This record gives sequence, C-alpha cells and structure tokens, in this order.
Amino acid sequence: MPLQSINPATDTILSTYQEMSSSEVADIVRVTHAAHLQWRGTSMDQRAGILRGAAHLLRSRSDEWAQLMAAEMGKPVRDGVAEARKCADCCDYFAEQGAAMLARESVPTDDQHDSFVVYEPLGVVLAVMPWNFPFWQAFRALAPAIMAGNAIVLKHASNVCGCAIALERILRDAGAPEHLFRTLLIGSSRVDAVIEHPLVRGVTLTGSSDAGRAVASKAGQVLKKCVLELGGSDAYLVLEDADLDMAATICAKARLVNGGQSCIAGKRFLVVDPVREEFEKRFVAKMAAVRQGDPLDQATEIGPMARRDLRDQLQRQVTASVDRGARCLLGGSIPAGPGAFYPPTVLTDVRPGMPAYDEEVFGPVAAIIPVRDEAAAIEVANDSMFGLGGGVVTRDLARGQRVAAALECGCMFVNEPVRSDPRLPFGGVKQSGYGRELSAFGIKEFVNVKSVVVN
Ligand code: NDP
Repeated sequence: MPLQSINPATDTILSTYQEMSSSEVADIVRVTHAAHLQWRGTSMDQRAGILRGAAHLLRSRSDEWAQLMAAEMGKPVRDGVAEARKCADCCDYFAEQGAAMLARESVPTDDQHDSFVVYEPLGVVLAVMPWNFPFWQAFRALAPAIMAGNAIVLKHASNVCGCAIALERILRDAGAPEHLFRTLLIGSSRVDAVIEHPLVRGVTLTGSSDAGRAVASKAGQVLKKCVLELGGSDAYLVLEDADLDMAATICAKARLVNGGQSCIAGKRFLVVDPVREEFEKRFVAKMAAVRQGDPLDQATEIGPMARRDLRDQLQRQVTASVDRGARCLLGGSIPAGPGAFYPPTVLTDVRPGMPAYDEEVFGPVAAIIPVRDEAAAIEVANDSMFGLGGGVVTRDLARGQRVAAALECGCMFVNEPVRSDPRLPFGGVKQSGYGRELSAFGIKEFVNVKSVVVN
C-alpha cells in the first residue's frame, strides 16, 4: 500500500510514497547497526557536535520545516517554527548535559575493590512516532538516544513521510554518519517485523493506546525494552479561589495547543460549583476568540485537524456526548467547505458514560465537568484510564501543591498549562504508558546500566 501525504487544509494529495520492501527494511536495520558499532566508539564531544549541527539546521531553516509540517498535517506555520526551535533546544540540551548524565559513577563496595556503574548504548532503537508534533516527537526520542551512542530507525506516521525524510536529511547534513538515523517508509502493519529483527534492541512509541498495546505485546514476545508515551485526558481543576480570567486563559491555551491534538492538551475541566457559570462565560469567550484558518497564514492560531478521519471521529464523540445530555456552549459541528477543519467547541455538564468524559478527545473540544468541591474534583480527575498530565488553578500555592500530590499522573502544573521541557522527565502512568522521555531519566531508558567490579 502506498503511503500518502494529503494537505488537510485543502484535501489535495501532496505526495505518494511506495512502501519499502521487507528486504530493504532489513538492509536498513543492518547498516544502521553497523553505523552504531562505529558510533559507540565516538567521544561525547563528537556526539555533541552532531547534535549542535542539527540544532543549527533546525533554527536556521525553521521556516522551511514549518511549511512542511503545515502542508502535511495542518500545523500553523508560527507553531511549526516554534516546534523546530524547540527541537534545536533539545539537541543543545543533550549536547551540553549528556556527558555528565552518562558519566561513570563510582559505587564503593569493599575496600579492595574498584566498583563503578557505566552507561553503555543498546544499539538500534526503533522509534514509532505520531503526526501531531512530527519534528518534536522524533527529536525528543532521537537526541538523547544518539547522545547515548545508539542508532535510530524511525517509522513515522504514514501521513507525514515528507517530515520523516527531512529528519533523516537534517541528521546527515549535520554530519552524522550516513546510516546512524534512517527512516523506514512502511505502514503500521509492518512494525512487528522490525521489532522482531535481532539487531533492533529496543522500541519507543508515541501514539494511541491501541498502537501502544500492539507494540508492547510484540516487544514483550521478543523480550525487548519498550518505552510508551500514549494518550492522555489531562484534567484541569479550577478551584473557587482561582483568578477566573487567568483560569480561562490557561484552560483555553491548554485545550487548543496544536489545535487540541496533543497528548498533554487539557481535555477535562473540573470546575467547582461556586465559580462554574462565571468560568464558563470567560472560557467560551477565550475559545471563541481564537483565530482558525489557513495554516500558512502567520496570523492563524489553529489550522485544520491533521486528517479527515480524525475530524469525523471527533464529531462522533461530540454528537454522542450531546445525545447523552452534555450541553454544547460553542461550536460542535463540522463547517462547510474543504479541509479537515473543526471549530473550537465547549461542552458542559459532561458526565460519566459520555465519550467526552470516558475517552481521549483529540481535537479542539473542551469538556467541562461540574464538581462540588476540591475533594470531588480530585476524585473525578483520577477517574480516568489515563494519567499523563494535569493542572490546577488556585491563588493558594500550598493548596496547588497538595492537589498536585493527589493526582495520578506523570506531571502537574499549578497555574500554567502543561508543557514538555527537555530538563524535566516526561511520561505517564496507567494507560498513558510507561518509561520516561527527556532529562537524565529519558537518556537512561535505552542504555545498558552496567556494574563493573575490579579487584
Ligand atoms: P496511532 O497511534 O495509530 O499512530 C501513531 C503511530 O503508531 C504511527 O506511526 C502509526 O503508524 C503507528 N501505529 C499505529 N498502529 C500501530 C500498530 N498496531 N503497531 C505498530 N504501530 C502502529 O494514531 P492515529 O494517527 O491513528 O490517531 C488516533 C488517535 O491516537 C488520536 O485520535 C489520539 O487519540 C491518539 N494519538 C495520540 C498521540 C499522542 O501524542 N499521545 C499522537 C497521535 C495520536 P501509521 O500512521 O502508519 O498508522
């Protein structure tokens, strides 16, 4: 089956790519492994040099990368530029910190022994990546892995093959050995065979829970290390002492990040009864004020969704939620015209049994869930199969920290929207996955933590 890039703003087919054959894929894994064997012998300075080179290309050509993302998955160009720059910052961060993170650690045991821990690369790591941040998700996986001495084969989402090819070129133009980072143009049904390849030593996936389950079970069958960064349904608690204007701004920003197509977008807004009506008014105004349109226009804040099928699935979730008693305060229907556009939408009175409560809602649709008080808000926040991120808006910072401690998730933000940062570990609990990306925790996911004792 050929892979296709379709512009989601216009529905036009941009490019068609032939899938690689099984023998081509096996050859790529072999040469990538050979590149790894050389790469593992390089110094940390040499590795840092390549990442700094990539950072330079990401920054100096950020407009070009932004155009590519806009064309393939509808990201507004100003967000694409920011994404390319964030990738550059991530490369610089691991270039600067990687050596210290992976330095040999002395662990005294007996007097007469010299004992220490070293961090050695595993080899070829398969990265299965999604379309929503087509540059960032890949760099978040590859920068630490490459700094640790691993090599990467990337199976990117089928709708962003142009980005996948660009990523390979960036690494090569930055001076990386020819096969250190290779893109596999294959559909998802071919991933199992790559995981099975004896020279593939680990797999990292960002995507849906279904994709995570499939990859984890194959990795389990062949006993390979696996890191999963899956969906989320981040809850934001708006407490009665919140600055409501600030709360509305934070919640709208959190919901509409990347047009709502982010694992760490705010999806459920748990608002305590005394402030609910006022919050709804201000939140709807903020959501309505966002400028939606052509992703190539510098003024556009949200573009179309990445694919029509994803937009249609979102509409089904909204319709089913309204049918079961949710009230739609804004948006809620597919506009006429071409493209996969969906308007900012606000549902309220959302309750268990509705898709907006129970499922991940991956688009610009906010679910307001009424709660009595802080204790009820915490209970509802944790009443989710997901556990990625969360937020709380309150004037009382000690209270914010107490709430942060009570939520079952991988990160909590008090009075600001959740975001990823190369310096902080990133990942979730429950069905949001396992393992961590970024920071000193992320770089150690794909290393052999080796104990050495010398007598
Ligand atoms: P998927 O999870 O299906 O795709 C993500 C990546 O996984 C792609 O590279 C995809 O390849 C691959 N993949 C999919 N199924 C399998 C499988 N069985 N085995 C191995 N690899 C697989 O996301 P979709 O694009 O279909 O989006 C569906 C939903 O997933 C969204 O609505 C959202 O809820 C969630 N999602 C979450 C993301 C996150 O950041 N956590 C990112 C993207 C989606 P291919 O493209 O070839 O199918």
